[in-house]
Amino acid sequence: MLKFYSMEIVFQEIPDEISLAINITNCPNLCPNCHSPWLREDIGEVLTREIIDNTIQKYKNQITCILFMGGDHSLEDIIDLSYYIKESHKGIKTAWYSGQNKIPKLQPNNPLNYIKTGEYQEEKGGLNNPKTNQRLYKLENQEKQDITYRFWKK
Ligand code: SF4
Repeated sequence: MLKFYSMEIVFQEIPDEISLAINITNCPNLCPNCHSPWLREDIGEVLTREIIDNTIQKYKNQITCILFMGGDHSLEDIIDLSYYIKESHKGIKTAWYSGQNKIPKLQPNNPLNYIKTGEYQEEKGGLNNPKTNQRLYKLENQEKQDITYRFWKK
């Protein structure tokens, strides 16, 4: 089960996409100096298909992607909702920001278009820092392309 704390439209988290970021709670990761400690708590509203439907309906002319921020404790739900979005809302892409250092094993036909990996290390910064340990991959035709460099262009 996934719960979420908030949602917001974001422009920079996924290059070339206008994303609706859903901030998932119950984060199981233990990044030192966590930047969002409230997301580690068991708080928020259960993220249902109905909420996804209503949200996409509300923002359908503004967004191109649904971005799950977190959800490492329940990858099955991330994948299940991503399949649902692909089937029910044609044209909307799906992305997942994981805090894990390794890409979990995914089915070849998994519905995600993007996946970000890597714990938060304050001294290395986020994706927009060239020293970052984090990576953003574009998943296409069963291949993954590291597009982290897109955050470093001036
Ligand atoms: S992934 Fe790391 S930085 Fe993000 S909420 Fe979880 S512990 Fe905090």
